[in-house]
Amino acid sequence: MKIVEDLHVHTKFSKDSKEEPINYVNLAMDRDISYLGFSEHIDLDPFDKDFGYYKFNETYEEYKRLKDFVDNKFELLFASELTYQSNLHSSIENEVLTKPFDYIIGSVHRIDGYTISGPHGVDYFKDIDEYTAYMRYFEEVLRLVETDYYDIVGHLDVIKRYGKNYYGEFHIDKYIDIITEILKRVIEKGKVIEINASAFRQGFSMPYPSKEILELYVNLGGREVVLGSDSHSAKQFNAYLEETILFARSVFDFEIVSYKMRNKKKVSKLSNLIK
Ligand SMILES: [Zn+2]
Ligand SMILES: [Zn+2]
Repeated sequence: MKIVEDLHVHTKFSKDSKEEPINYVNLAMDRDISYLGFSEHIDLDPFDKDFGYYKFNETYEEYKRLKDFVDNKFELLFASELTYQSNLHSSIENEVLTKPFDYIIGSVHRIDGYTISGPHGVDYFKDIDEYTAYMRYFEEVLRLVETDYYDIVGHLDVIKRYGKNYYGEFHIDKYIDIITEILKRVIEKGKVIEINASAFRQGFSMPYPSKEILELYVNLGGREVVLGSDSHSAKQFNAYLEETILFARSVFDFEIVSYKMRNKKKVSKLSNLIK
């Protein structure tokens, strides 16, 4: 099977990774990856402990050095994973949209001051019922997808990562209306969702988002996706992407896309990767 792309990768330029970017570049060459995108965290909330860590200039200089080194053996992309918050639109416009990113992954990580996607944010779930906890998350995702601050929606149902410890397995039923609205906006705007393999690493039997959400996406006309491992170390690079490709193919023969300067382009149908 060919792992054609991994567009969700963190290096030491993200607070939660120590990995040297060159280590991913060497692996991408060994493995004949066609597209590798560095998607460093950008956290713009002054109350976020990771606020201020991202340094555009250093990150971009290193990217340009590596781009020369790669010399068109594959496409190395310069991207970001924006922690979207609806109260921070002006910071996003000033500090993210002004930069030459190939694509922006829009991810909701923070609700009510808690980083719900990480172990430090689990207090969010303590005194709140499932419906309220999940709806607040999906409402923020809906606000994200109504903007043009993203190209790709990151790990659409990541709220279940820690939510499952409090409420059990996630089912789409109670959230189908709002998830439908989210997916409709994504499709109407020509944006895409990512299929994020990190859920397998975190003990789930399917990627983010779940099968039910992928099926809904297809039913609403969604055809395009990107693939990402969400790796924070070279060891995690491409981890579970083969499982993710097979899983996604069992739902639909999606078109894999990539980006250059925020312009989307088709890469391959899933079925062409599975030989
Ligand atoms: Zn994320
Ligand atoms: Zn990430």
